[in-house]
Amino acid sequence: MNRTIEGFHQDEEGDWVAELACFHNQHVRHNPPFFNRSWTATAQGRESMLGQPLECGRCLQLEWPENLESLRCTPVFDQDSIPAGLRKDHTTKEGVWGLIHVSSGTLRYVCQAPVSRELLLEPGINGIIPPGLPHHVKAEGLVSFYVEFFTRRS
Ligand SMILES: [Zn+2]
Repeated sequence: MNRTIEGFHQDEEGDWVAELACFHNQHVRHNPPFFNRSWTATAQGRESMLGQPLECGRCLQLEWPENLESLRCTPVFDQDSIPAGLRKDHTTKEGVWGLIHVSSGTLRYVCQAPVSRELLLEPGINGIIPPGLPHHVKAEGLVSFYVEFFTRRS
């Protein structure tokens, strides 16, 4: 998924790391001929990349970013009370991650492109929802679950 570059820092070895809007970090090494990123070498070059998109493989892998804080939880829903909006494709806002907690039963969690995955969630198997990814859920028989939303405070 394309994510906006919001900043840069250097790791312990001095390599540049891009900070993405999804809260993932990504190394942006200049290592020709494999990675031709001469822009990483200068402050001006890095500045010119702020606001530009970078493909985030960690979002595609549904990897939970570090250091998120809980914002709020939905009520607990069951197979009869799932809001219609959750049963058709929808997204969280930019900068907001979701975590589906199943208390009992099984919930089908469908991620659309570019992730394109279907997962069966159960107690102890949470569903990770990256910002902006179209997804929906479907009850597989009796189920109860809620969704918790997270962000990172700036
Ligand atoms: Zn990401």
